[in-house]
Amino acid sequence: MAESTLRGTGIGRGIAVGAVLRMPDPLPEPEETPSTLTPDAEKERARASLAATAAVIRHRGERAGGSAKDVLEAQAFMAEDPTLIDDVGVRIDGGATAERAVFEAFASFRDLLVSMGGYMGERATDLDDVSQRVVAHLRGVPAPGVPDPDEPFVLVARDLAPADTALLDLDKVLALVTSDGGPTSHTAILAREKSIVAIVGVTDALSLADGTEVVVDAGTGTVTVSPNDEERATAIARAAELKAARRSATGPGRLADGTPIPLLANLGSADGAADALEKGAEGVGLFRTEFLFLDAASAPSVEEQKAQYLRLLEAFAGKKVVVRALDAGADKPLSFLNDAPEENPALGLRGLRALRANEPILRDQLTALAQADAESDAEVWVMAPMVSTVEETRYFTALAREVGLKTAGVMVEVPSSALLADRILADADFASIGTNDLTQYTLAADRLLGSVASFQDPWHPAVLKLVGEVGAAGHATGKPVGICGEAAADPLLAVVLVGLGATTLSMSPSALADVRAELARFTLDDARRFADLALSADSAVEARAAVTAAATAAATS
Ligand code: PEP
Ligand code: MG
Repeated sequence: MAESTLRGTGIGRGIAVGAVLRMPDPLPEPEETPSTLTPDAEKERARASLAATAAVIRHRGERAGGSAKDVLEAQAFMAEDPTLIDDVGVRIDGGATAERAVFEAFASFRDLLVSMGGYMGERATDLDDVSQRVVAHLRGVPAPGVPDPDEPFVLVARDLAPADTALLDLDKVLALVTSDGGPTSHTAILAREKSIVAIVGVTDALSLADGTEVVVDAGTGTVTVSPNDEERATAIARAAELKAARRSATGPGRLADGTPIPLLANLGSADGAADALEKGAEGVGLFRTEFLFLDAASAPSVEEQKAQYLRLLEAFAGKKVVVRALDAGADKPLSFLNDAPEENPALGLRGLRALRANEPILRDQLTALAQADAESDAEVWVMAPMVSTVEETRYFTALAREVGLKTAGVMVEVPSSALLADRILADADFASIGTNDLTQYTLAADRLLGSVASFQDPWHPAVLKLVGEVGAAGHATGKPVGICGEAAADPLLAVVLVGLGATTLSMSPSALADVRAELARFTLDDARRFADLALSADSAVEARAAVTAAATAAATS
């Protein structure tokens, strides 16, 4: 028997076996004790460590290539910044050690960036990372951040900064286990995007010592510590099976009985179109238009928008493209739509509410889309975000039809819309369920707050019950019901969602292969049976466990 089993929330269905390597803890703040060396000697130490750190970061960038190279090159420049080096010198002249001077100089630079906000503010974390590396070099201890040994390993961490996750070397990192984070945390989203075997929210993860062998099974959300021979062999065989299933599942999404379930892509710009098509996306189920204009100080013109939309539509000629009107507010504020500060922005003037308060901007967007539609061969659908009433549905669809858009629907992200889905679908041409927000609003748990991440689980039977309401309304009215939240990218949950009445699934393109393979294993009857099991559970954990057990039994029978 294995020594013990730890549990968390698995991302996807992958399995990996390997030895643990812990992410080093952040370094403690250097003390303010006066230096015992001469200022010149301290300056020389600081200079050497700053230069060595810049060289290491630059080397990492060259190895990583692509966009990671640019990010790391920018970090290397931070360690070489002359103003910063001067500031370190001034602090050393004031009696500080090289460690303390570097720490303070970076911290004050950081505060400056934070006060500038926006893009500059976001660079503050990168600066912290460089500061930690320089201090580690001065102390002769390993730099914090993702370890980089020669052998592949299972990375165990409290959580990862998005930059760490983005730069993971996928040939080395067999799996990722974190003690913090929920299924919609940044780590989970990026892990899914990069198809990393990952389990988040494993409370005891940090008790795992370096070198311990583990089996990480994302499908069951378990980390088996020191597996025996049989457990290891079973895991290796299952990993090979999954790989083979992924490779053999090609073509359009369908269940084992042939029921078609079109698999679509979630995109934030036309740049991802080629990759999505290569991964077999049958269209776009969610085009997050607000991502195009996050940095814009004023509303984009009709011409500018039309050009952006046409790029995407041309890439998906002949296919369905569901474009979402700007979803501004909460975690994605747009300065030209959200100008008043709010205490609870997720419950404020967000999504369609913000657009309605600025109707000319909504009209421009719909007009740009209608013009792009007229010039392309894609099948354009448009939908409104964060719709909470029947009246809002009527308002949006009327406006969309008025400017010439043929297919107008709404996102179901608020429980009120799910509960009145029959009336909403009497007017809207389709519904698309945003499970990220539907979970946030159903469980009253801010999706950005780590402290309530455990509530943010779309397996929760209350969320699934609401999805079932929309599925039933879609069936009764003969209108399509898509899913475009992260839940659709969880392969087994995707089967449950189909059982609840979803007719299409949209996800980040890297999740398509796993979901396609999982759908092909089960019939519509299986999916409905799994949905019933999940609905009758008392919690998300129970729902996932019950369906996982039933799916394992169905697949082996
Ligand atoms: C959702 O809420 O599930 C969704 C797809 O929209 P977003 O994540 O962009 O809020
Ligand atoms: Mg949403």
